[in-house]
Amino acid sequence: MRTSRRILLYGGRLVLPDRLLEPGWVLIQGGIIQEVSAAEKLPSADERLDVSGYYVAPGMLDLHIHGSAGVDLLTATAEDLHRWARFLLRHGVTRFLPTTVPADPTQYAHVRATLAEYVPEQERDPRAASILGVHFEGPIVSPRRPGALNPRDFRTFRSLRDVEDLLTWDIPARPFVRMMTLAPEVEGGLALIEELRRRGFRLAIGHSEASFEICEAAAERGVTHVTHFPNALAPLHHRQLGVVGWALLEERVTLDLIADGHHLDRRMVALVKKVMGTDRLALISDAIAAAGLGDGQYEIWGEMIRVVNGRTENAAGALAGSVITLRDAVRHLLQWGVPLPEAMRMATLVPARVLGVAEAFGALEPGKRADVLVLDEQLRPHLVLRDGEIVRLSEEPPSPVGTP
Ligand SMILES: [Zn+2]
Repeated sequence: MRTSRRILLYGGRLVLPDRLLEPGWVLIQGGIIQEVSAAEKLPSADERLDVSGYYVAPGMLDLHIHGSAGVDLLTATAEDLHRWARFLLRHGVTRFLPTTVPADPTQYAHVRATLAEYVPEQERDPRAASILGVHFEGPIVSPRRPGALNPRDFRTFRSLRDVEDLLTWDIPARPFVRMMTLAPEVEGGLALIEELRRRGFRLAIGHSEASFEICEAAAERGVTHVTHFPNALAPLHHRQLGVVGWALLEERVTLDLIADGHHLDRRMVALVKKVMGTDRLALISDAIAAAGLGDGQYEIWGEMIRVVNGRTENAAGALAGSVITLRDAVRHLLQWGVPLPEAMRMATLVPARVLGVAEAFGALEPGKRADVLVLDEQLRPHLVLRDGEIVRLSEEPPSPVGTP
């Protein structure tokens, strides 16, 4: 329940999209940020929280995540989703898009039913991150760039019947974002983009070997994003620029990166940043169920996945997602020399823009939902506000996940 009490966080170091403001204060009422300021005179409030010495940042949004804390989306129950959402909130993620890997119609139906059961009730527990929608990674992707996805479940698009089971996910929640990562060069790919765009999907290219020209055609039809750049894409070639060259040149497209220290050389992150800046770069975790559990062997997606020193590997030796949280990704960027406001923006405002929800989420700005993190020097959440409800985490420190 949203209270109309006025909550004031004061004395902290506010992480704004373009700078630190310190000391500053944030006034919250009715689940909404009312004012953000460095003015000396503090406004009156019903609850005043002195957060001196802490960073105050917007809640993070993870738009590509398959599981964590032993929970895998494909097999999860509603209770599992709740456990997963609580794990994420403890790590500073306040909104996320559970992400499917290519699966058979029965598995998709199971996920849909679980979300339909859980999502309408999710706001009851402020200690849980909130599901913003669903992200389908595939199944219309290229068998030539599967990464760790199982080509057995890949599809082509000849008629609506081929994707019928993915179109009717009208979960009663506002917003409920639907996103799909696809390969536009696969049979029917461009027509599918038009069809999904009409139905309000957010569309990304990924697991693809599309040519520059096909990428342009895909963008004309509604693609706005590229998934885990440049993993699972054809490498840049000087005469065949492909998705990688197109994404670096096309100024309207956003990209996301897996900054877990394994999927990308840190100098690749520096190169991408140098070419296009960070305004259009989002961070994702691409985490799998093993995130938060430490090294070991796990059965996920019907196969054995090994985690060794924080690096995932399936039987074929391919990287199989990550075991980080977004907080780890932000910390890696800081270690690699990216200033905090910029690194946080990549985990907050940019993903909110990618999902089309930046008017409500992603920054400490008046009018936005009060998803706010109070973080220590290591970016460990001390307090989290979700929709303006205060969750105290000090007694419950986040378990260490991911290794740099
Ligand atoms: Zn993924």
